[in-house]
Amino acid sequence: MQPIWIGCPDSNFRKGRPYGFHPEAIVIHIMDGSFAAGESVFQDPGTQKSAHYGISKAGAVHQYVNEKDTAFHAGIVVDPTWGLLKPGVNPNFYTVGIEHEGVAADVWTEAQLAASTILVSQIAERWRIALDADHVIRHHQIRSTKTCPGGLDVGQLLARATGITA
Ligand SMILES: [Zn+2]
Repeated sequence: MQPIWIGCPDSNFRKGRPYGFHPEAIVIHIMDGSFAAGESVFQDPGTQKSAHYGISKAGAVHQYVNEKDTAFHAGIVVDPTWGLLKPGVNPNFYTVGIEHEGVAADVWTEAQLAASTILVSQIAERWRIALDADHVIRHHQIRSTKTCPGGLDVGQLLARATGITA
């Protein structure tokens, strides 16, 4: 699967990853709205927000930031429950962020879940990231005040992704 390159303004991401960090985990997000609305946030140079990828309900995969660069998707840490969180380090430095069209209460479409599963397995293979619940996480585990990504069953996504790479 080849994502469609969209990109985003320089002010919404950081070139490279500081201190030699590289992707060690994948953070799953929900856009809390339509695909177009979510993308417009990343395209607006004033938001300082981005993700590496966005996936629509129809299964389209758009890329806004290179995986080698730092996207601004999970930089705020509030009462984290993620066991592999590095204290005092911005999580953006060592994660890849994937946004998904929809709101927290949505049941994901098959097309969206299938596209996300393939993308997660490809990122995991590129960076030697384990396909388990410690390395493919919900945004909520970093920022507990957000429900993001809502109803997604990450276990189901992981089971399917593991099936692809097995
Ligand atoms: Zn999020």
